[in-house]
Amino acid sequence: MIYFDNAATTKPSKPVLDIYNRVSGECWHNASSEHKLGNVAKNLFSKAQQLVFKTLSTTNKNVIFTSGATEANNIAIYGICNKYVGTSSKIITTKVEHPSVLNCFKDLETKGFKVVYLNILENGEIDYEELINELDASTVLVSIMWVNNIIGSINNINKIIEIVRKYKKIKLHIDAVQGIGKIPLTFKVDDVDLLTLSSHKIHGLKGSGCLIYQNNINLDTFLHGSNQQFSKSGTIDLAGSVASAKALELAFKEIPNTYQHVLKIKEYLVNELSKLEFIHLNSSLTGSPYILNFSYKDVYSETIMHYLEENEIYVSISSACNDKKRKPERTVLELTKNESLALTSIRLSFSNDNTLDDAKKFIEVIKKYRK
Ligand code: PLP
Repeated sequence: MIYFDNAATTKPSKPVLDIYNRVSGECWHNASSEHKLGNVAKNLFSKAQQLVFKTLSTTNKNVIFTSGATEANNIAIYGICNKYVGTSSKIITTKVEHPSVLNCFKDLETKGFKVVYLNILENGEIDYEELINELDASTVLVSIMWVNNIIGSINNINKIIEIVRKYKKIKLHIDAVQGIGKIPLTFKVDDVDLLTLSSHKIHGLKGSGCLIYQNNINLDTFLHGSNQQFSKSGTIDLAGSVASAKALELAFKEIPNTYQHVLKIKEYLVNELSKLEFIHLNSSLTGSPYILNFSYKDVYSETIMHYLEENEIYVSISSACNDKKRKPERTVLELTKNESLALTSIRLSFSNDNTLDDAKKFIEVIKKYRK
């Protein structure tokens, strides 16, 4: 079996599973209880928070452990924007964000916000000039992803920080899901206001992620209740939080090795795929080494996906389809402006669990496909 769908989710690592089981079994008490057992749980929770801050080399931050990046993105965006409902404020994102950001912005558009969706350049990065031109005194939030989950392009976060910081009022949110714990941190977490990560993309558990944010920000309450985690109420998932922090710590330690490992796999595949005249590459080697997107010309994505599946190779197709209507993949369409390429795109995504032999087998199999 070859699993090339690690941007969708990764296999939980043994240390993460072990720590989750241990904490669930031994320290299952409520971290908000006032008694001794509650205090033990509270201390463990605080250690998990500190480990997140230490790993990200950040100070002056809060962390909310969430059910994943979707929840973290929603808490960040509504946490900032709810205060501005009815003020016609401007909020800026990009056309190629994950739906957990994009759909928040679409919803906020219906609530009177002036929303700007930035274009991407030929290399998949945002149009920085457009960002400069769109910012104004009415802007309250900019939300931009670090690494694109479909094509692997990497936005220059330092450049974005520099641009946005000219306006004191604006909060900057970075969806860092496909970068954190995978590629080296090239910006200071302290320089952004809010940052989202997802633990299950870095060998943590499904249903876990974090929102890290500047502690002078008062996020609008998202879940009303006892405010256990600032704006997120509900009994703290101690084992999940400890496991999340562990996954992050381990992923960071592994970045230098894993990065080089997956880069070799991607380089091999890019080299081999570019020799095939029926393949169009939608990713380049300048992007994340973890993601490689290509189009198999004139064959719908799902046809190739099922063919690969028959050969026990698992990949992602991002072009959703129902029985009657195929939808071009949004990011590939934005990048190539070519509907046919967007209807035939395939995403391969890698982790430390993959080998160069996986890549060789993949090329053998893809070459054998006959229309
Ligand atoms: N943001 C990005 C860039 C993603 O790739 C994903 C998932 O693929 C998410 C957000 C949502 O993550 P989660 O599954 O943890 O909610």
